Amino acid sequence: MSVGVIAVDIGGTSIKAIAVDALGDIAHEVRVPTAGGGRQPLRQLDAVLRESREALEETSTLARIGIAVPGLVDTAAGIVRLAANLGWRDVTVRHQLEDAFSVPVIVDNDARVGALAERIWSWPDGGDLAFVPIGTGVSASHSAFGRAVEGATGAAGEFGHLRAVVGGELCTCGNRGCVEAYASAANILARYRARGGSAQTVPAIVAARTSDAIAAQVWEDAVTALSAGLLSLITLLDPSRIIIGGGLSLAGDALLDPVRTRLAADLAWRPVPPVLASALGAHSALVGAALQGEADVDAARSIAQRLADQLSAHVDATAAR
Ligand SMILES: [Zn+2]
Repeated sequence: MSVGVIAVDIGGTSIKAIAVDALGDIAHEVRVPTAGGGRQPLRQLDAVLRESREALEETSTLARIGIAVPGLVDTAAGIVRLAANLGWRDVTVRHQLEDAFSVPVIVDNDARVGALAERIWSWPDGGDLAFVPIGTGVSASHSAFGRAVEGATGAAGEFGHLRAVVGGELCTCGNRGCVEAYASAANILARYRARGGSAQTVPAIVAARTSDAIAAQVWEDAVTALSAGLLSLITLLDPSRIIIGGGLSLAGDALLDPVRTRLAADLAWRPVPPVLASALGAHSALVGAALQGEADVDAARSIAQRLADQLSAHVDATAAR
């Protein structure tokens, strides 16, 4: 019997898992809304993994579990230090799951896991790459020398909490004026609703921006904040390219064109690197979680391509929520 893996992307909105065989075919897929706080997401994770393992083991033996978490993760220790959207602090995820499932478990920050998929799938030849996933929150991962930079405490890439507006709106992190307070999908929707807008989803706000003054203003604020953050990121890191991922990347040129224009106007002394939408859309972290621990780069590339083909059929408007 060949081996397979289970990949999990824990988001603030939903927990997604796929059971994947050795060829990259999805044997089982499950998605549940994330329950709020404390031990609940852990219990959900356990249930999702049991269901996935049962389906996988009809054809394959489970070899490992890869998990992408939105927050500060000490990957070497397998501990989630802080995941505010899940209510987790110092949760020994790897230890608990290895005890329960008796296979190696790899836990990492979702932006770094997503960047792994972006590197392997799109640019396997390396090069400095900045990956900026935008969904419920805003994050980033910078890859240098073919691997994601973790920082001294695993906290590198907290791009969403760069200050975009001095004295601006209060962010969930406790600071004011963060990129995330304006440019995350959750905050675009919240800011729009707070101003009395009638559209119900981020894609609807994007579509309405040419006819709805509230949508236009909220979208303009998101573009301005994101561009301010990217200006700092480019200035500090000089990436060869910037990949915008997550659900918001599905907005495509409605997002990328004004961001590129703003950056070109603001960067006086150097060219703007290419700013591109992820080809994996909202699935980067899920694909990356399936590739964690895969030592064979050719096998990883082939699995990533196979997964991208299967998951692309799932891209829909709700992914941008
Ligand atoms: Zn913040």
